[in-house]
Formats: sequence, structure tokens, C-alpha cells
Amino acid sequence: MKILLNEQQIGHGIDRLASQLKEHYKDHPITIVGIMTGSLVMLADLIRRLEMPVRISLIQASSYRGGTQSGDLVIQDQMMLDIKDRDVLLIDDIFDTGKTLVQVTQRLVAMKPKSIRTAVFLNKLGQSVVASVPDFVVFEIPNEFVVGYGLDYEDLYRNLPYVGVLEASDLQIHVSA
Ligand code: 5GP
Ligand code: MG
Repeated sequence: MKILLNEQQIGHGIDRLASQLKEHYKDHPITIVGIMTGSLVMLADLIRRLEMPVRISLIQASSYRGGTQSGDLVIQDQMMLDIKDRDVLLIDDIFDTGKTLVQVTQRLVAMKPKSIRTAVFLNKLGQSVVASVPDFVVFEIPNEFVVGYGLDYEDLYRNLPYVGVLEASDLQIHVSA
């Protein structure tokens, strides 16, 4: 697998994001809403670098019904904390078409937070079909299907400590495994 971002680069990227968030929120309490399952690894790494009071909430959104093709978005919010009048930071693994972040943001806005900002680990360049952009982006990447650091292919590879480009040969191995 071709490595796009190694562990050290990712660590520095998350350090950068934590600094930007400290600059933006200062000591104000925030509620971080992580979109499961892709943001799991970023969430765990990020929150341990923050010093303001942080509440953690989870929401699930799946647009990829396995494989690399996009399907309809299903949002499950049973695990959400009450975010009314809270400053909310929504995080996701990757901004591709942007549909996931936009639709989940709309769902959260209906819960009447005081403010809502978005942060993504990866922004896939040239793919967006929505008008808005994430407020914070850790890395910009080219239009390739990537796995690792939370990102999956058919629910596998999320545990890789690096981000790699899934190649045809990897898929072959996967299919025959
Ligand atoms: P969007 O709604 O922005 O098109 O897609 C966002 C979701 O699609 C992400 O949360 C992620 O689950 C999935 N996705 C988009 N691009 C990739 C990719 O390159 N690799 C993986 N593993 N998932 C992706
Ligand atoms: Mg996802």
C-alpha cells in the first residue's frame, strides 16, 4: 500500500489542529461531536491535546454501503448529548463530496446549539458538490481512495496508524482473503 501520510506527519497535523482550536475557543467549554466510525481515531488523538472543558458526543452517519461507491446517507443520533446552547465542534474523517458533513450539520443545527464549527482530518480536493467548506482541515489530499487512521474499506483498515492509498493489488488480496 502506498503511504500518503505517515504516523509522524499525522501527529504534527493533529497538534496543529489542537493549536487552532485553542486559539479559536480559548478556555470556553466545547462539545465535540464525532461522526462514527471514521472519526474515532482522530477524536481520541485530538481530545487528549485539548485543555478546555470538553464533552464528547457521537453521531453515526454512513454513506458508503461497503466498497468505494457512495450510497444514501443514514444518520443515527441516539448517542447524542444535549447540545442546546452549546458550542459544538463537529468532526469527521474526510470531506469528499461534502454531503455527509452538510447533512449532519443540518441535523445538529435543529438541536439549537449556540455555535457549530466543523473540522475534518482529510479534505479530498476537487470532489465537493456542496457550497460550504469545513472550518478546519488537517490535510488536503488528491482524489484517491484512502484507508487507515479511522478510514475503512468494508470496515477493515481503520486501525492502520498511517493513511494509505488502497491499490488494486490490495483489493485482490482482500477479496481472496
Ligand atoms: P462525503 O459525504 O463527503 O462524500 O463522504 C464522506 C464520507 O465518505 C466519509 O465519512 C467516509 O466515510 C467516506 N469516504 C469518502 N472518501 C473516502 C476515502 O477516500 N476513503 C474512505 N475510506 N472513505 C471515504
Ligand atoms: Mg465515514
